[in-house]
Amino acid sequence: MQYQSTRDKSISVSAAEAIKTGLSAEGGLFVPDSFPSVSMEEIKALSEKSYNERAYFVLSKFLTDFTEEELKKCIDSAYTKAKFETNSIAPVYKLNDNTYFLELWHGPTCAFKDMALQILPHLLTTSMKKTNEDKEIVILVATSGDTGKAALEGFKDVEGTRIIVFYPDNGVSEIQKLQMVTQEGNNVSVAAVKGNFDDAQNGVKKIFTDNAYKNLLERNQFKLSSANSINWGRLVPQIVYYFSAYAELIANNEINAGDKINVVVPTGNFGNILAAYYANKMGLPVNKFICASNENNVLTDFIKTGVYNKNRDFHATISPSMDILISSNLERFLFDLTDRDDAEIRNLMAKLAEDGVYEISDEVKEKMQSMFCAGCCDDAKTMETIRKCSEEYDYVIDTHTAVAKSVYDDYVKETGDTTKTVIASTASPFKFNQSVLIALEDHNAVVGKNEFTLLEQLADKSGMKIPKSLYELKDKSIMFDVVCDKDEMQQFVSDFLMVE
Ligand SMILES: *Cc1c(COP(=O)(O)O)cnc(C)c1O
Repeated sequence: MQYQSTRDKSISVSAAEAIKTGLSAEGGLFVPDSFPSVSMEEIKALSEKSYNERAYFVLSKFLTDFTEEELKKCIDSAYTKAKFETNSIAPVYKLNDNTYFLELWHGPTCAFKDMALQILPHLLTTSMKKTNEDKEIVILVATSGDTGKAALEGFKDVEGTRIIVFYPDNGVSEIQKLQMVTQEGNNVSVAAVKGNFDDAQNGVKKIFTDNAYKNLLERNQFKLSSANSINWGRLVPQIVYYFSAYAELIANNEINAGDKINVVVPTGNFGNILAAYYANKMGLPVNKFICASNENNVLTDFIKTGVYNKNRDFHATISPSMDILISSNLERFLFDLTDRDDAEIRNLMAKLAEDGVYEISDEVKEKMQSMFCAGCCDDAKTMETIRKCSEEYDYVIDTHTAVAKSVYDDYVKETGDTTKTVIASTASPFKFNQSVLIALEDHNAVVGKNEFTLLEQLADKSGMKIPKSLYELKDKSIMFDVVCDKDEMQQFVSDFLMVE
């Protein structure tokens, strides 16, 4: 299988090349040139397999230039009981007869980004070897919180790689910040950027597309790559857990093989929900994709109207990993919806860059709306949803997952749809302990208390165990305290790599 670019489909590279490069030279994203199809028999067979076997089944269909041995080694290095504290890696929690949470946060940083970022470094270093790359790979990450830490954990001390993470100064939770600034490892660096996530992301994109700078780095034996969800190696592992969830539902006699399910995803960059869509293109039976946003509801409007308009106020919410106005992976979705019309994608993306707005054709809009619906909710509603879920079901969810639950509840009220539904649960409630505790009690529950008191309080309240990686932050020292302007980001990279 070869990979083409969303902005120039004449480009054709191997999976290893696509993963190594991250972003295509003209700014497009790599996509597989076709989608492998799987039969219901094969899907049914997955119900008796382990997560790692399911992962091999899916990944081997896309990464066709990897040998079986290479792929299995990548998978088995990433998904271990030691790192995920559970054998099933991505367990499915049954809330009631129709609703299931797919818990994607049992990894080392307590958010779903681990599902991809634990394996990406292995896919990347394998890709480097396969393409005879002798330069050192430099991973640049812009993060709205969870990606940064997950990438740091995935790449720390991985030979032949360095990693630099930029996070928005005032856009991440205390725990997220603490997780990043205490990062250990001999190849890592972290800086805060004055501004919001889009500022950090645009800064990183600017470095990526600066050819003179790229040449300078190459002369110094460095090659830039990305761990953001634009990298194919980030996206493809996410397809796995939708198959896994479906297989789990079959195994538990919750559905029969062939039954359609709904999928609800709390969405930011559109990566996670796109992975569900790709699973469906391969044959996973899906009735509706429900795209959930917080107050930054650019995707809700887009799915409802066909107009993407990022010219709107940016809101810092209690679900910060979804505080995004430019959803990069939407480009891949549009490429697919337009039947791979690269000229149209260039046109739409140019409009987005120039005016911040574009509109898709009625035909494409109808196609989208036949599969996707969307909704959003504000912080107050998010809080209420956390409290209600705890009261009704004795199950505590984080703020991002609560956005999805709220949007799903609205959807059911509106449509009466009783299709069995999987909600992607994207973070541990402990990671957003402050907001979750305020939701469960009130503001007084948190005033004047430090993060570690809050963790214990939440453990008491929820009956859940504090994830070890969060508890241990207590004894770590601060390694990074740089705050830079967005036009100083390139200099920060140069300083870390010691290039002039
Ligand atoms: C990144 C993230 C999201 C959004 O996922 P996308 O793939 O960017 O749409 C949702 N919830 C949490 C907890 C996240 O970390």
